[in-house]
Amino acid sequence: MSRPETAVWQPTACILCSRNCGIEVETRDRELVKIRGDKAHPVSTGYFCQKAQRLNFYQNHSDRLTSPLRRRPDGTFEEISWETAIAEIAAKLVALRENHGGQSLAYYGGGGQGNHLGGPYGKAFRTAMGTANYYSALAQEKTGGFWVDGRLYGRQNCHPTEDVEQAEVVVFIGTNPWQSHGIRNARTTLIEIQKDPNRKMIVIDPRRTETAALADLYLQVRPGTDAFLLGAILAVMVREDWVDHEFLAARTTGFETVRTMLEKIPIEAFAKRAGISLAAVEEAARLMAQAKSCAVRTDLGIEQTLNSTLNAWLRSLLFLLTGNFGKPGGNTFHTYLVPLIGHSEEGEKQMRSAVTGFPFITNLLPPNILPLEIDTDHPQRIRGLVVDSANPVVSAADTNAYRAAFAKLDLLVVIDVALTETAREAHYVLPAASQFEKWEATFFNLEFPKNAFHLRKPLFDPLPGTLPEAEIYTRLIHAMGALPDFPDLKAAAQKGRLPFAMMFQKLLATHPELLDLAPVILYETLGPTLPDGAASAAFLWASAHQFAAKYPEAVRRAGHQGDGPMLGESLFAAILSSHSGTLISVNEYEDTWDFIRHKDGRIHLEIPEMVEAFNQLDPKEPVETNGFPFVLVAGERRSYNANTIFRDPDWRKNDREGALRIHPEDAATLGLVSGDKVTCTSKRSTVTVQVELADSMCRGVVMLPHGYGLEHPANGAGRLRNGPRINELTSTAEMDPIAGTPYHKHVPVRLEKLA
Ligand code: SF4
Repeated sequence: MSRPETAVWQPTACILCSRNCGIEVETRDRELVKIRGDKAHPVSTGYFCQKAQRLNFYQNHSDRLTSPLRRRPDGTFEEISWETAIAEIAAKLVALRENHGGQSLAYYGGGGQGNHLGGPYGKAFRTAMGTANYYSALAQEKTGGFWVDGRLYGRQNCHPTEDVEQAEVVVFIGTNPWQSHGIRNARTTLIEIQKDPNRKMIVIDPRRTETAALADLYLQVRPGTDAFLLGAILAVMVREDWVDHEFLAARTTGFETVRTMLEKIPIEAFAKRAGISLAAVEEAARLMAQAKSCAVRTDLGIEQTLNSTLNAWLRSLLFLLTGNFGKPGGNTFHTYLVPLIGHSEEGEKQMRSAVTGFPFITNLLPPNILPLEIDTDHPQRIRGLVVDSANPVVSAADTNAYRAAFAKLDLLVVIDVALTETAREAHYVLPAASQFEKWEATFFNLEFPKNAFHLRKPLFDPLPGTLPEAEIYTRLIHAMGALPDFPDLKAAAQKGRLPFAMMFQKLLATHPELLDLAPVILYETLGPTLPDGAASAAFLWASAHQFAAKYPEAVRRAGHQGDGPMLGESLFAAILSSHSGTLISVNEYEDTWDFIRHKDGRIHLEIPEMVEAFNQLDPKEPVETNGFPFVLVAGERRSYNANTIFRDPDWRKNDREGALRIHPEDAATLGLVSGDKVTCTSKRSTVTVQVELADSMCRGVVMLPHGYGLEHPANGAGRLRNGPRINELTSTAEMDPIAGTPYHKHVPVRLEKLA
C-alpha cells in the first residue's frame, strides 16, 4: 500500500483513553500534522480533548523499534531477522510446554486503550501455548466489579454502564471525568449537567477535582473510607424508606438481607469515619433516591483502594435499591460486538493460579500475583512469559519485585512498538506496527441504548521492520506446529463469503478443537479477500454474524438490513466500509432484562461474602500510621499524563516533573513550598519528587500522577528518566483479597524535605 506524501485528512481514533474518540488527522509523510474531531463518528460526534493533539509523539519518537532484538549474554541486544526470532521463540515455548506443562507459560497484556484488534490473535496464541494464564491491566482495576456483577446478574461479563447524559442526578465516585473522561464527550456533558437547573451532580473524591468544582454536592471522602460512606448513604435510604419497593419486588431477590445489614449500622459514626457530615450524607441519599433518574459512575478511585470489591457491591446497591436500573438516566447493560471479558466459574469449577492459588475472574489473573507466580521454587512456577503492548515493570505494583521476578524467567518475550522498560528486561523483543500503521479497533464499546463499533484503517504503511500483531501471532502459531494449512477454505473464500461460510461452519463442527484458533484461520483464509489489506479484521466477520444472530432486532434498528446470515453480512460490510465507525445495535430499555443470566431472571442483591465484609467494617477501629503519616493516591490523571505509550516527555505542555500535590497546611508543617524536592518513602522504596501546593487536596493526602518514570533518549546525554516511577512505592502484597486489585490509591508514605 502506498500513501500520498501530500497532506490528506483521514479518519481514525484517539488511543489515549477508553473513549477512543473519532478524530480526523492531517498526515504528511509519516507525521500526524493536524488533528480535529471527527463529526461522523457515531459516538464522539466531533468531540476530542487536548491530549489527542499530541498523538504524533506516540507515532514518531526515538524509542520506536524497527527490528526483532535478542538479548546477548552481557545484557545488550542484537538485531536478528524475523525468521530467526520466530523460530527461536517458538522452539523455546514448545520446549517449556513439553517439559513443564502449559501452566509454566503465561501471557500479559494484549492491547492497550485502543489497540484491541490483536487481542483475539493473542487468545489463539495462548491456545497454542497451552496456557490459561492471562494477566491483564483490567485485573488491576475492574475485576472486583466484574466478580460482583457475576453474583448480581449471573455472569461476570454482564456489565452495566451508566446513562449519564439523560440522568437527572449523576453521581461520580472516585473519578474525575474532566481529566479521565470515561463518559461520552466528558467535558461537554459535565457542563451541560452543571448548567441545567433541573439536574444535579454529586461528586465523591478525596480531592476537589475539576469535576468536583462543577458539582452541586461534593463529599471530600477520606481515602480508603469509601465503604463507610457508601454504607452510610445506603443506610439512610433504608432508614427513610427511600427505596423502590416495586422495582425490588419485581426484579430482585435478597433485599431483606441487605436491609437488615444496613439497619444495623451506626450511620453517623460511618459518616464521621469517612470525614463527611451526617447532613451531607442525608442530602446525597435524598438526591439519589428522590430523583426521577440517577446514574452512578465509578472508576479507579474506589477500585484501587481498601475494600475495592465491597465498594463495587455498595456502588451497585446505590442504583439498584433506588430502582435506577434498566431505564433512561440510570445504569443498564450494553451489547458487545467482541466481548472484552469472559466468565470464570466459581465453586468446584473454579480455576486458580498454580502457585498462589488465586482465582481467575473473567478468565483473568491479577498482575499483583505475577511476581509470586514466577519468583519461587514451586514446581509449577511460571517460566516463560509473553508480554504484548504492556509495560508492567512500570505500570504494575512493585517495580522492583517485577524486575527480580523477570530475571528468573527462562524466557521473556515482549511485543511492542517501543523499547519499553519491560522490553529492556526481555530475552526477545518483537517490534509491532503502531496503532496508526495497521487496521485497529477498540472493544470498549460500552454504550446503551445505541452501541457502535469503529474499525480503523491504517494511516501509514507499517514502519519498515515492524509487523501487526495478527501476523506476529500467526507466524508464531505456525512455527509452534499448532496451525494446519487450509487450502480448501482459502479456495472457498476466493469464491465468496457464502461458500466460505458453509465450509468454515463444517470445519468447526467436525473439529471443535479449532474454535480457539478461529481468528488466525480466518486471518489466513478470509483475510486476503478483504479490501485494502484488512486481513486482520477477518475475525470480525464471525463476530458480526454471532452478534446479528443474538440481537437481530437491535441490529436492524441500527440500520442494517436482512434476515438470518444476510443480516450478519450486512453488519460486517458496514463495519468494514465505515471508516468513521458505525452503529451496531439500538436497544429498547426493556431489553435490559434479557441480559440477566440468573435462571430466575432476577438480580440477586445478596452476596454473602460482601455482607460479611460489610459487617466487619468498624468505624472505631484505630487508624495506625506506623511512621507513614500521609496517604499517597498513586496514579492521578491530569491534563498531560496518559498511559505509558507516550514515551517522549516533550509531549507534555506542563507538569514536566509529575509533581506531588499536597495541601498547603500539610506543606507548612514540613516547611515546604511549591517547587521544593522531597523524598517520598513507602514500605517498599523511596522516590524523589517535586512538590506542588494544592488547596484542593484533603489534609493528610498526597497525590502523584501515573504515566511518568519512563526513560527516553536525551540529546547527547544517554537515557533520562522523566518524573516519578510510582510503582517503586507500591507493593504486590497490598491488594483486594477477592480480586487482587492493588491499593494504588491508598499507599502509606512519609515525606522528607531535601536540602
Ligand atoms: S477523551 Fe480520551 S480518547 Fe477522546 S481525545 Fe481525549 S484522551 Fe483521546
